[in-house]
Amino acid sequence: MIKVIKDLIQNKNTPKGRVAMVMFIINMSIFLYHIVLMHFYARYKILSLIIYNSITTSMYFCFAFFPSERTRLVGAIAFIEIWVHMIGAVLTFGWAPGFQNWAFGLTCAFFLPSFSPTQTRVAKKDNRPWILGIFFMITFFVLRYVTIKYNLPKVNYLNLRAIEILFIFNSFLSFAAIFLFTKFFSDRTSIRERELSRKADFDELTEVYNRRALNQIGADTIMKSIVTKKDFSVAICDIDHFKVVNDTFGHISGDMVLKELASLLRSFAIRGITVGRWGGEEFVMIAPPDMQYAEFTHLLEKFRKQVANHRFELENKRKKRITISIGSASISDVQTLDEAILIADRNLYVAKESGRNRLIK
Ligand code: GH3
Ligand code: MG
Ligand code: MG
Repeated sequence: MIKVIKDLIQNKNTPKGRVAMVMFIINMSIFLYHIVLMHFYARYKILSLIIYNSITTSMYFCFAFFPSERTRLVGAIAFIEIWVHMIGAVLTFGWAPGFQNWAFGLTCAFFLPSFSPTQTRVAKKDNRPWILGIFFMITFFVLRYVTIKYNLPKVNYLNLRAIEILFIFNSFLSFAAIFLFTKFFSDRTSIRERELSRKADFDELTEVYNRRALNQIGADTIMKSIVTKKDFSVAICDIDHFKVVNDTFGHISGDMVLKELASLLRSFAIRGITVGRWGGEEFVMIAPPDMQYAEFTHLLEKFRKQVANHRFELENKRKKRITISIGSASISDVQTLDEAILIADRNLYVAKESGRNRLIK
């Protein structure tokens, strides 16, 4: 038991761990509530419900402390159990103790699985929550009809106090289920939203900004430099003879170099400089409007030297030195980032032509 709880706490930040934690909380709550119910069933000696409740209480205990990988099956069994239990309890005790309110929690719960955090693809359109929700609603109204038509309960097991206590418990449980499921739902949606916005703005391989984000930040920075009447400074850097790295050491080694260069670039991105991957083995640096061009090029030159002195790790622990060429530009009347980079690119071309491993500003 202690091991199960330790595992849950240890893995609570992984997608699988989150599912396991949610399942544990749900199973434990249902287990504890079944113990409360047992108190009533035993007190009023309702044999059928005592037997049923003993079986299901042990079942939830097992679900909580002997967790199964088959969460969908466990979930389905729990839902059927709650549904059967609800019908049994309403037919036995009537409408007053509020067992029918469980239908609200059940309806809410069914909208959850289509947002499972272990699912990597976005779920297809899923009509099951609607169908099941309508099914629980129909159950609710049929139970209402039956209790009125047959004047249930036939035997008044419960006194007014017990009815009131059960009503409070059942209503509380329904609210709690709705709160919990809505919270899980919104947590998952915001986790997915964060993942998506990361994917939209960052390059998957190098984890620096992608071209889309660079264009956005570039446009904002250009706007600011126009307003503050400052020049807009930008640089583009390109790995020298990168094709040779790929051809000699393989594409995986090439990717490793790109990643390592990007991580050096991230530590270069100080004083508000934005860095990102423009495409292939080309990276772009955008200076903030308040940075002097002299300071920007000084930092670029420092970075170029740092790269030239760095030994990049390749596949199979091999090491290699690489160099980069940089073209930079500072422009006063630029309209778009593409336009500015075109000017910096001319300087990059000059850097390549004049022997590589240099900055042309
Ligand atoms: P130069 O000094 O003139 O820039 O020579 P170069 O070989 O670096 O230039 P070229 O543009 O001919 O080659 C760029 C190479 O970059 C070709 C392409 O295979 C490689 N490349 C582009 N994107 C990736 C990538 O994501 N991963 C890997 N491994 N290689 C890439
Ligand atoms: Mg290139
Ligand atoms: Mg190159």
